[in-house]
Amino acid sequence: MDCDIIVCGAGIVGVCTALHLQQRGMAVCLVDRAEPGSGASYGNAGLIERSSVVPYAFPRQIGQLLLYASNTRPDVVYQPSALPGLAGWLWRYWQQSAPGPLQRATEAMLPLIERSVQEHDHLVNMAGAHELISSRGWIEVFRSLATFQGAADQARALRRFDVHYRLLDSAALAAVQPGLTERAVGGIHWTDPKTVRDPQALVRTYLALFERSGGRFHSGDAFSLAQRQGLWTLDTVDGPLSSRQAVITLGADAAGVYQKLGYKIPLAIKRGYHLHFHGEERTPLVHSLCDSAAGFVLAPMTGGIRLTTGIEFALDSTPQRDLQLRRTEQIARRLFALGERTAALPWMGRRPCLPDMRPVIGAAPRHEGLWFNFGHAHHGLTLGPVTGRLLAEMVTGQTPFTDPGAFRVERF
Ligand SMILES: Cc1cc2nc3c(=O)[nH]c(=O)nc-3n(C[C@H](O)[C@H](O)[C@H](O)COP(=O)(O)OP(=O)(O)OC[C@H]3O[C@@H](n4cnc5c(N)ncnc54)[C@H](O)[C@@H]3O)c2cc1C
Repeated sequence: MDCDIIVCGAGIVGVCTALHLQQRGMAVCLVDRAEPGSGASYGNAGLIERSSVVPYAFPRQIGQLLLYASNTRPDVVYQPSALPGLAGWLWRYWQQSAPGPLQRATEAMLPLIERSVQEHDHLVNMAGAHELISSRGWIEVFRSLATFQGAADQARALRRFDVHYRLLDSAALAAVQPGLTERAVGGIHWTDPKTVRDPQALVRTYLALFERSGGRFHSGDAFSLAQRQGLWTLDTVDGPLSSRQAVITLGADAAGVYQKLGYKIPLAIKRGYHLHFHGEERTPLVHSLCDSAAGFVLAPMTGGIRLTTGIEFALDSTPQRDLQLRRTEQIARRLFALGERTAALPWMGRRPCLPDMRPVIGAAPRHEGLWFNFGHAHHGLTLGPVTGRLLAEMVTGQTPFTDPGAFRVERF
């Protein structure tokens, strides 16, 4: 079976990449070994994060570093045995989080973040996915007045990036989101972002558009990808695929392909969890709420209130642990009535992260016809459509809408 290009991995990034390639006239085969959208794209917090213009950096102040080292916080937890293997990556992340490199990362990411909502809107309109999207923005909630004031100052500094927000005192916050307890002393309502009620359903709706437009999805293992006589081949349950070009959109599993081909790319995994709750009928959750200090989001989803956690560093071989969810759930319950859990077992997802806080997008330098689009870290849902566009423009020889230089794999 032949096509113009094989896209390996059907998460939000792979599906959007496939759609953009298809819209530029290519015959595209999309491959995943599991259900489309069942990786990190399944269980995220659903924020299309137009307001996150500064990437999530490694803390630099000594007080903060000591706090995180104590491993008692809810927003970041680590498994001590994972640290030796992660030390080199964390060191690079720390270096890249210094003011100069962080400023460069912010500038590099800005053209992508700025277009993130409009690029989703484009696909949502084509796919007819409107019922999955809410345009209410999201609210950052504060449990300390000092933190609220500090965050309000930082928000003012972000106005130059054309982000919009409203400051909410406790009364205004209670009016916008009834049911918050008195612990919520203030909020910032970020009004540009949109939110998704079911992230996996969005991936599937985009996939349905791809298939309606003639694209083909196949079950197969991308680790079988190989280059033979100028063609990329891959085994699927429907038979072998071959094509002159291939794209790696495997998220946290991309290393399984690029390492085999001899590339050394510092991709690390930040795990995160979610659980769903029934909530209380009297006070439904209307807005997505984020408690940045504790690293969690409460999001109204079709499956109930979704509580997502911050970051866990652990050995990839370690099964999911309940430490972070326990800490997070305790704080979340004091802020908003969650009701009972809808399921006993949590979901765990793996965020694919590069130490300089930007994805790898572009050509694989030593392999003709091979392309990369992975490493979207905390913002893959946000960036799937816009990075799909950028990669497709590069593959088809169009002028990219922004300079892709900052995303080249050669930077490592
Ligand atoms: C708790 C949590 C909350 C988050 N909240 C947000 C948010 O609010 N907003 C936001 O923008 N981002 C958020 N993110 C990040 C976002 O979910 C990820 O960045 C994004 O899903 C990555 O998409 P992806 O397509 O690259 O990877 P994935 O969705 O993981 O897709 C990779 C695909 O590759 C497939 N695959 C892997 N190996 C193989 C193989 N060998 N052969 C074939 N297929 C293979 C997998 O099955 C999978 O379908 C969150 C993440 C977490 C964990």
